[in-house]
Amino acid sequence: MNTMVKHTFRTERCKGCGLCVSACSKHLLAISKETINKSGHYVAYMTNQEACTGCCNCALMCPDCVIRIEKE
Ligand code: SF4
Ligand code: SF4
Repeated sequence: MNTMVKHTFRTERCKGCGLCVSACSKHLLAISKETINKSGHYVAYMTNQEACTGCCNCALMCPDCVIRIEKE
């Protein structure tokens, strides 16, 4: 059922704070060491979309509403 979850980032709003990384109990998120947004922040990214349960913990934790989760 995990393939039914679509997890996306509005990366231009990301501050690279890492709160979402800490919030994911499955350790699926990370902060990039390469990709910087227009504000100069290293951005969060998904490491394993297939494993995401769509629990929304990361989205709820993000103070800047960067993460969007859609379920079908
Ligand atoms: S919590 Fe939000 S702002 Fe912070 S790293 Fe994650 S997506 Fe970016
Ligand atoms: S929705 Fe849940 S499982 Fe998926 S990345 Fe966010 S915290 Fe992790």
